Amino acid sequence: MRDASELHAVPQPTAEAKRRLATPVEYVRGVGPGRAELLQRLGIRTAMHLLFYFPRDYQDLSDERTIANLEEGRSQSVRGVVAEIGASSSGFGRSRVSVLIGDDTGHLRATWFNQPFMRDKFRPGQHLLFTAVPRLRGLMWEMSHPQVTFLADEEAPLDAKLLPVYGLTEGLSQYQMRRIVKSAVDEFSGGLEEAFPPALLEHYQLMPLVEAVRAIHAPTDRDQMQRARRRFVFQELFVLQLALSIRRSEQRALKAYELPATARIDARIRRLLPFELTASQHTAISEIAADMALDRPMNRLLQGDVGSGKTIVALYAMLTCVAHGKQAALMAPTEILVRQHADTLAKLLEASRVRWALLTGGVTRGEREQILADVAAGTIDVVIGTHAVVQEAVQFKQLGLVVVDEQHKFGVRQRSALRQGEVAPHYLVMTATPIPRTLSMTLFGDLDVSTLRMLPSGRQAVNTYLVEPDHEPRWWHFVRERLHEGRQAFVVAPLVDESENVSAPSVAAAFEQLTNGELHAFRLGVLHGRMSSAEKQRTMAEFRSGATQVLVSTSVIEVGIDVPNATVMTVVGADRFGLAQLHQLRGRVGRGSRAGYCGLLLGEVNDAARSRLQAFAASNDGFALAELDFELRGPGDLFGTQQHGLPPLRIANLQTDRETLEEARREAQLLVSDDPGLKHADHARLRQQMLGRYGKALELGDVG
Ligand code: ADP
Ligand code: MG
Repeated sequence: MRDASELHAVPQPTAEAKRRLATPVEYVRGVGPGRAELLQRLGIRTAMHLLFYFPRDYQDLSDERTIANLEEGRSQSVRGVVAEIGASSSGFGRSRVSVLIGDDTGHLRATWFNQPFMRDKFRPGQHLLFTAVPRLRGLMWEMSHPQVTFLADEEAPLDAKLLPVYGLTEGLSQYQMRRIVKSAVDEFSGGLEEAFPPALLEHYQLMPLVEAVRAIHAPTDRDQMQRARRRFVFQELFVLQLALSIRRSEQRALKAYELPATARIDARIRRLLPFELTASQHTAISEIAADMALDRPMNRLLQGDVGSGKTIVALYAMLTCVAHGKQAALMAPTEILVRQHADTLAKLLEASRVRWALLTGGVTRGEREQILADVAAGTIDVVIGTHAVVQEAVQFKQLGLVVVDEQHKFGVRQRSALRQGEVAPHYLVMTATPIPRTLSMTLFGDLDVSTLRMLPSGRQAVNTYLVEPDHEPRWWHFVRERLHEGRQAFVVAPLVDESENVSAPSVAAAFEQLTNGELHAFRLGVLHGRMSSAEKQRTMAEFRSGATQVLVSTSVIEVGIDVPNATVMTVVGADRFGLAQLHQLRGRVGRGSRAGYCGLLLGEVNDAARSRLQAFAASNDGFALAELDFELRGPGDLFGTQQHGLPPLRIANLQTDRETLEEARREAQLLVSDDPGLKHADHARLRQQMLGRYGKALELGDVG
């Protein structure tokens, strides 16, 4: 790291001050045993936890006005006394709470929709502060869902202009929380010890820790608040990137079989392939082959749009492995996908001596035991199965390569679950969900990436249409024409059944309507995630063979299904899906040499949804759509905890903190290459934080 000697030293807290940070929250001024229990629910057990319980928002009082002086179009605050409280409800479980406040100049009505509990928070005569963008309705000023500060009846004017808003739990008010945090900051923040070396603070212009803790809870203005926030965002992302970098270097230190794709092996494999590879496939294959030739494990992500031909790239890697007498495993998240891979493999390997087995929940106990024994003995070269089955049960004799399809459904940790014995397998993970760059830096920060940007030639873009309700009959006419030509069709709906809470179309309803209506002359099948694996298999087989012409389904068909004769897809309730997901769905049609068509039935959508779907119809670039989706909807499920296995981010927002992420990542990589074990005294605190937070999740070598 940079030479820090010429920089002034950061003041060090006394040992006593440091120790006091661990004070149980019960003994913090203003807490006591009752509130300590409430705070515990928020994960707060010590004074230190309070210091790092960051506001989730701020109430901006810098523009406070009398009611008569309000202006439309910008956020302002008003102070008034509660005159009236009302509540009403309408159909579909909608409810409305409204509170009328007055000051010397007039009245203002605040309303909350679908938050009936708000009603109990107010009583007539209360003094409070509302902050929101006001609107003039007729003669009455209104605010919807304003931020609220309850003022003690005789409270002096608040001097802060930016009030912290904390996440609360029942029984704890915003006012109490503010007081508790404030007294913790006053009393304990002096004991905090800076984690960053001075040179790093300097270089990235990061606010020092103690100052930042004080400023984030009680900023003097927005600028100071943002600088404090940036420090913590940087720190959070930096620590995560440190963990990912270290994991990556630990992975690289493992031993793996050297599996070079020699000219002979290459020629033998290529003879099996039924088509010319695209240039993208060539590139990806050479990147993979270069990795597998080394004596340390490959850790590579292969990303490529739907239909870009990832499977064949994976098969190349698997056959290379088998050619060296080592075993390969291919895992996919669903049985349907596993079977499809098995079909592909069966065709490809018809004339070869490769021995492979299919392992899913569907095989009988006896078959399964035989397969497991053969794999352990090394007489089976390739195992294909669902993630759960393969990972839990199989002992390999000499596992050389693991391929995981649709990686984003799996966690970071699972990647190493198959490691057995001294030698680690090479790892190839594939995803057809284009992942926005900020997310992949986080989810896959420890992987190398190959990308298939090109579709196999002959493949055409899917023609996508938005279908307004009064054009639906014409759309179904179009679908029937395709069916009469001998093609097949998908109909996709967001839900399995009608739901009481959600007014979205279901597979059950769509099937019912279509069999009795627009598609009554055709053979329809139904597919969804709640069916047994045998039912699903039968349904898919019927569709694949053409016995059913139309498959009405949930998004279970999203992942990887390949039925080239299916050329039309209808999506009902399209606004329920993310763009990346819709793109996946639409990738199911137009897979043969014929053009594909996708109709999105709009139903009743708002303008935002309509323009999102318009953008979707206009683009066929999965990566661009993923970035757009990310901008509009945030990381959504992609960053759901169960899927990636990392603890959630507390302050960083991957949507808006992208630049900070890039900086933190660069700096973390530099630091790890300088000091791989973070052994330097300057890095001790970072190391401790990194291990404390990610050591277990990322299975980093020396936790503790
Ligand atoms: P994905 O990347 O979505 O997993 P697949 O591997 O399933 O895509 O490939 C989609 C289809 O394209 C398959 O039918 C496959 O056989 C075909 N395909 C793959 N590569 C080529 C190629 N180079 N030329 C022609 N067809 C190809
Ligand atoms: Mg695939």
